[in-house]
Amino acid sequence: MLEPLAHVGRDPATGGYVRDAWSPADLELRGWFAGEARRRGLDLREDRNGNLWGWWGDPSPRRPGVVTGSHLDSVRQGGAYDGPLGVVSAFAALDLLRARGVTPAVPLGVACFTDEEGARFGVPCMGSRLLTGLLDPERALALKDDDGDTLADVMTRAGRRPHEAGRDDETLAMIGTFVELHVEQGRGLVTEGRPVGVAGAIWPHGRWRFDFRGRADHAGTTRLADRDDPMLPFARMVLAARELAARHGVVATVGKLRVSPGNANAIPGHVSAWLDARGADESAVRALVADLTAGAAADVREESWTPVVDFDAALRDRLARAAGGDTPAPILATGAGHDAGILATAGVPSAMVFVRNPTGVSHSPDEHAEQADCEAGVVALADVLEDLCR
Ligand SMILES: [Zn+2]
Repeated sequence: MLEPLAHVGRDPATGGYVRDAWSPADLELRGWFAGEARRRGLDLREDRNGNLWGWWGDPSPRRPGVVTGSHLDSVRQGGAYDGPLGVVSAFAALDLLRARGVTPAVPLGVACFTDEEGARFGVPCMGSRLLTGLLDPERALALKDDDGDTLADVMTRAGRRPHEAGRDDETLAMIGTFVELHVEQGRGLVTEGRPVGVAGAIWPHGRWRFDFRGRADHAGTTRLADRDDPMLPFARMVLAARELAARHGVVATVGKLRVSPGNANAIPGHVSAWLDARGADESAVRALVADLTAGAAADVREESWTPVVDFDAALRDRLARAAGGDTPAPILATGAGHDAGILATAGVPSAMVFVRNPTGVSHSPDEHAEQADCEAGVVALADVLEDLCR
């Protein structure tokens, strides 16, 4: 089932995927989702924030459903599994339940969340944050991509009605439980020697934008003493982030920057850099950012913050039993954010199933999962859904 998606948004030079939200690649993936939902006779719906839902049965606030799914967008130059594995496995698990002759006692939904990675507008889990009201729609719609287009612009161009975006209680009331299957982004399951695991907690994490301002000038004719080069404080900030992360026992990454004017023969006038920081302990992450901000000659703005997510313990243990066969599946903490974490924060009982990743590499074209492990993931997900839909 991953095969028809293999070419969508793939950069032939690197083998990596570029699937920005609302881009032509994303629209093609949405079309694929709609086709898969229709082919199975599911009732296809798109909510006001662009999230897609395929329902087997008719959910209502009095009879909310069990929902499974993930996202189809990608980080830039990402791999084939982060997101799509969860959506494909959701459809495959539904097929397996039907093959087993299971008739769910509650509606079963397959979901695809919009813009989970935040590659285009810088805010991850945009679709689930808008749905749950954790993100102000005014702020979201005004966010700009690298071309200067706002979220409102690109949604309008895709034929959507951005002014209707925002907290959606009607859709939320349909979700009784949410289970997201995801490729593991680490080597916990390799260490455990198990194909499938269950999420324990998601580390608190955030993104900060650092703006360093200087004066653009000629790279040849401007004497060193006369320069105001923002690249230098930026470089110090990157090195400091690494040192402070080690000191505070967290992880910190600068993976994106924008240099203006961006000429090889000009001193830059402005450098914008994005810091991503995460860790098991919220106060340690906060301390890192505070230390870094105090030492950097930059304007610093918090673009997103997600507190620690402890998934519902009873649901987590139930999943570990249902997904584990004879021995309960191992429970793993993760440093990666997910829509399931956003829903959990908003009070929806949520859980995650992880599929082994042999190298642990993710957000890269090298991301991988073996066919047999993907199949084990589908069986585990089907077992979990069958248990939850009784
Ligand atoms: Zn993901």
